[in-house]
Amino acid sequence: MRELSTEHPINSIGSYLKEKTGGKVVKLSIDGGFTCPNRDGSKGTGGCIFCSAAGSGDLASDIPSQIRLLSDKWPKASYIAYFQSHTNTYAPVERLRRQYSESLAHPGVIGLAIATRPDCLSEEILDLLQEFNQRTFLWVELGLQTIHEDTAVLINRCYSLSVYDKAVSDLHSRGIRVVTHLIFGLPGESRKQMLESVRYVCRDLPQESDRAASLTRHIFGIKLHMLNLVKGSQMATLYPNYVPFASIEEYVDLVVDALEIIPPDITIHRMSGDAPRPTLIAPEWSYKKRTILNSIHKSLRDKKTWQGARL
Ligand code: SF4
Repeated sequence: MRELSTEHPINSIGSYLKEKTGGKVVKLSIDGGFTCPNRDGSKGTGGCIFCSAAGSGDLASDIPSQIRLLSDKWPKASYIAYFQSHTNTYAPVERLRRQYSESLAHPGVIGLAIATRPDCLSEEILDLLQEFNQRTFLWVELGLQTIHEDTAVLINRCYSLSVYDKAVSDLHSRGIRVVTHLIFGLPGESRKQMLESVRYVCRDLPQESDRAASLTRHIFGIKLHMLNLVKGSQMATLYPNYVPFASIEEYVDLVVDALEIIPPDITIHRMSGDAPRPTLIAPEWSYKKRTILNSIHKSLRDKKTWQGARL
């Protein structure tokens, strides 16, 4: 990994993968047709209050058509099959094995990213993930959103922080990369609380097994989402006028503070929201992803700072 500095301020997953593979790597968003235990009643009903009915997979479509579209822009790209919609370990093992294998069979697909809930990682599923971790480049994404239990109850997450901790430990000890999602701007959370969540998930992890020792001392990656109020979510009914951040500047300032306390070996997978414009209610500027990212980079330059600078 390149040392971070004002010249190269962020360890982005894009540059990490480029360094690793020597070329452009693009994620393909997959809807594997799974549901979520927080929707079907086994853990909860209605889902997390910010989640749209598509389960964060509003942008998903099938693999060949995504590759066709993307290859016009990046003819030599390779791909990570990203199981994004709902809970992608919430199905019988044989079905999961088949679907993961099918996605890897497409030419150019070099790895898997699997988004799930920490309470959907039984021993059987962990064994399966370990099998794929040996076969391909894999990471598992856990939607934690916050470490604060009051907020977790308010957003109807339906599992506690200790469940996340166990999942991270189980995955890490098997040598499986973990990417943690946090959401900035959840109702009732202060800036201090949001940064506490960042600090917590970026803590050192035990290196108890050889497999864990083959990874970095930390989670592999982090996704910083800005809360988006979207149509079809419970939030749109419960908090119809909620605006998580008053301006792009306020959000950018928070992200820069967060980056400064994220260890440089943690890859940054996201720094903004990603709601399709037709479903977005607030912040109304949230769809301007390029503007937000450019503003974050400008702020890092202006402040002469970088990821991990305050550690
Ligand atoms: S955010 Fe994830 S866990 Fe929560 S309801 Fe949506 S798919 Fe389920």
